[in-house]
Amino acid sequence: MHPNHDASPEPGTTSSDSRRPLLDASADELRAWVEARGHRAFRARQVREWVIQRRAESFEGMTDVPLALRRQLDEGWVVFGTKVAFHGVSPDGTDKLLLECLDGRRIECVLMAEDRRHTICISTQVGCGMGCVFCASGLKGVERNLSRGEILEQVIRLRNLLPAGESLTNVVVMGMGESLANLDNLIAALDVVCSPEGLGMGQRRVTISTVGLPGKIRELAALDRQYHLAVSLHAPTEALRNELVPVNEKIGLAAVLEAADDYFRATGRQVTYEYVLLHGINDRPGDAEALGSRLKGRKAHVNLIPYNPVAGLPYERPTPEAIRRFVEVVRGRGISVTVRKTKGRAIDAACGQLRRRVEAEATGTGPGSPLLADVPGPAIAVE
Ligand code: SAH
Repeated sequence: MHPNHDASPEPGTTSSDSRRPLLDASADELRAWVEARGHRAFRARQVREWVIQRRAESFEGMTDVPLALRRQLDEGWVVFGTKVAFHGVSPDGTDKLLLECLDGRRIECVLMAEDRRHTICISTQVGCGMGCVFCASGLKGVERNLSRGEILEQVIRLRNLLPAGESLTNVVVMGMGESLANLDNLIAALDVVCSPEGLGMGQRRVTISTVGLPGKIRELAALDRQYHLAVSLHAPTEALRNELVPVNEKIGLAAVLEAADDYFRATGRQVTYEYVLLHGINDRPGDAEALGSRLKGRKAHVNLIPYNPVAGLPYERPTPEAIRRFVEVVRGRGISVTVRKTKGRAIDAACGQLRRRVEAEATGTGPGSPLLADVPGPAIAVE
């Protein structure tokens, strides 16, 4: 058990309602609460099972839980702390939820269907403090970490969109926020996703994406989980990475790669390097060669993400020809490469973009206003 699992975060609560979101409590905490009210311990497990496995969205519907306990639960807890502020459905089978937290802040998460896979992309923070220059999530900085319940609710709410009997197959932690800056709450939530009493997903089906915080990567490695790590590299040289990923100035490319190597050694899990391709900036053959040299000798995989344009930012997606050439050069250096497909264009599926548009439309200002309706819709990228 991770040491901080029981340190429940305090998401914002409204003055009129002091009830806590159920999934912010650990299993142990709920058991203690139930027992303190004179009920048997297994009732807590039953209640969590209703929400996590049986898709209950109210206590009332938990028909085999004693009525007295259901009433007590109703007084102390809410099943979900978030509410759905917007649900977008894209013709390519992508669902996007904009969830409003108790404090009114909004977060995004996405469900993508392909063949028989149901992959979700979830957020870990409101906003992001890393400041990558091309990304919509970090434009206004980070507001706060999400609680374990807020992270878990994204998973459960998206799963509840699936037809009965179908389950999620993959989770990618690539939504808003720097995942490893909220490691404790993220792991608390993922442990539920990956436990048999939870959603029963295999740890290897979960990918955690990070800007590359070396200390946190080692902390994650020491937790002895099997999560897949994706490191957002975006540039093969120190100078270019400093430009695109400003936190790199304090960290440095070498330290990021060393920490990723340590993760591989500790877990045996091959690390993926993400590389957003920006037209004319990091997509030239020389960049591909430098990337290949930098990663040479490592058992690494490179995931190229053709840029999803963000309204108001000056970056563009490379031409298909530039992407093809980039792939060839990196592959020529003996490194495995894939290019991500784009999904969810019609619904602003890329992290941070929907929230930005909705908020701009509400105030009638900003880059998401109807003035910019002609800008091609952004998209989330999936493997
Ligand atoms: N903070 C984590 C998770 C961020 S989102 C990280 O940095 O990895 C996951 C990936 O999407 C990151 O590689 C991020 O750089 C990338 N990304 C952000 N905005 C994008 C955009 N507009 N187009 C394509 N990829 C983008």
